Amino acid sequence: MALLRSLLGAALGLAQVATAAAQAGRSFTRADTLRGSFTTPGRAWWDVVFYDLHVAVNPNDSSISGYNGITYRVLTPGRELQVDLMAPLAVDSMVQDRRAVPFRRDGNAYFAKPSTRQRAGDHHTITVYYHGKPRVATRPPWEGGFTWTSDSLGRPWVVTTDQGMGASVWWPNKDTQADEPDSQRVALTVPDPMIDVSNGRLRRLTHHADGTTTYEWFVVNPINNYAIAVGAGSYDHYSDLFQGENGLLTLDFWPLSYHREPAQRQFVQATTMLQCFEHWFGPYPWYEDGYKLVEVPHPGMEHQSAVAYGNWYANGYRGRDASGTGLGLKWDFIIVHESAHEWFGNNITAKDNADMWVHESFANYAEGLYTECLFGKQAGAAYTVGTRRGIRNDRPIIPPYGVNDEGSGDMYPKGGNMLHTIRQIVDDDEKWRAILRGLNQTFWHQTVMGKQVEDYISAHAGTDLTRVFDQYLRTTQVPVLEYRIEGGTLSFRWTDVVPGFDMPLKVTVSPDTFSVVHPTAAWQTVPLRLATPADFKVDPNYYVITRNVTTSR
Ligand SMILES: [Zn+2]
Repeated sequence: MALLRSLLGAALGLAQVATAAAQAGRSFTRADTLRGSFTTPGRAWWDVVFYDLHVAVNPNDSSISGYNGITYRVLTPGRELQVDLMAPLAVDSMVQDRRAVPFRRDGNAYFAKPSTRQRAGDHHTITVYYHGKPRVATRPPWEGGFTWTSDSLGRPWVVTTDQGMGASVWWPNKDTQADEPDSQRVALTVPDPMIDVSNGRLRRLTHHADGTTTYEWFVVNPINNYAIAVGAGSYDHYSDLFQGENGLLTLDFWPLSYHREPAQRQFVQATTMLQCFEHWFGPYPWYEDGYKLVEVPHPGMEHQSAVAYGNWYANGYRGRDASGTGLGLKWDFIIVHESAHEWFGNNITAKDNADMWVHESFANYAEGLYTECLFGKQAGAAYTVGTRRGIRNDRPIIPPYGVNDEGSGDMYPKGGNMLHTIRQIVDDDEKWRAILRGLNQTFWHQTVMGKQVEDYISAHAGTDLTRVFDQYLRTTQVPVLEYRIEGGTLSFRWTDVVPGFDMPLKVTVSPDTFSVVHPTAAWQTVPLRLATPADFKVDPNYYVITRNVTTSR
């Protein structure tokens, strides 16, 4: 829905994409650009308004068939319209105004040429009919597609996952995160007695004579395409209500039929999660569509208003704690992490997958905030600092733009620790909370470039954080504070930093108290009033390296 803004705001042309890719020493194909750029000629001129998705799911032969009615607004007169659908699925036909629309195929992209004139401001619908056996997920949710499996009673269980890979792995659409429909219907037909649970609210059930039922779900808010999901199986269902900042929110829980009891025990954490995250991030973004947890066979996924849950009704992350502190074993990682994406990922969606840190760094940081909500500020900090053990500094968090590339997995723990570090710089918890809430309010239901998020935080933090973001998101170097202690004098400077890096830092210059110093790449000195040099400390909440170079001089 926010494509127009993106066209005005995105400074990335194809030439710059190529340069960035060349700099990164990686090569990308024409298909990567067709999939990953939202400014290509087949995509730039039209803005998705509504997806009307109808798909029949056939577990018997692992096939699907159906259509998507794509309603769009013309931004500038265009000729060819790019619709994405991944092989081995194939488009059968396209129709506009009851006339067949000719199309050509270029890999996983189809280019349609409607005969109706496409004038700026017009609304049109193109309906894309398709069928086939979609790609099977090899490692859901990371390598996605369809998962055709069965539950422990041998009943069929079918789910989809496609973040990163793209929603066009199972349905035809404009496969970019930059352009969301304002609303979407998800009408899925499954064999009886399977139940399909998808996004938003169930509007209608239609039983058919051939032993199938159509579940018509409807989302009344903008939604990213990778959030649309099939969740078909032998589900039980129960509901609850949450009194939140924007009124009464319906909570709907869909465990497998034999998991109702563990679900009722474990899913109470959804309420604590909502209390905590509404406090820190502002109102849950989808009161109209409700909040749901839907059991799935893979670990989990942030499907908007229908969070996929596969964490075995136990705390931790399938028994593990990423922080190594034990704190991560005191709550359910999937409920917390995936639901945090309702704010960072679903409410605020990165237009380009290169900015996936906007989703994952904040979701990682949200785990620490949830720990803080339960056990206090020190515990929250210990959790986030603990997740540093997962940082690899193998490659930058932000990769080249425009080619659907993904940065380092450091976008989780390193990104979370960057945000925790920025909180130390802000040094005012209410101000920090206002920034997190302000992001969700300012970019409410929008798609953004990561730079907009950086600039918002900088503008409201009271200090320019441009170099801090550059350092942590665009390099693999961890800032090193070099220091010398000679007599009563502390000398210090930053090394291994981007030009102009001047992040303030808290250190002990007098006993038992942290003071803010402002290191740069040049040596500075301050008087030191410590009993012994061993008493010198850098606040461990900052993700930096400390190097004593006193003896090496
Ligand atoms: Zn995540």
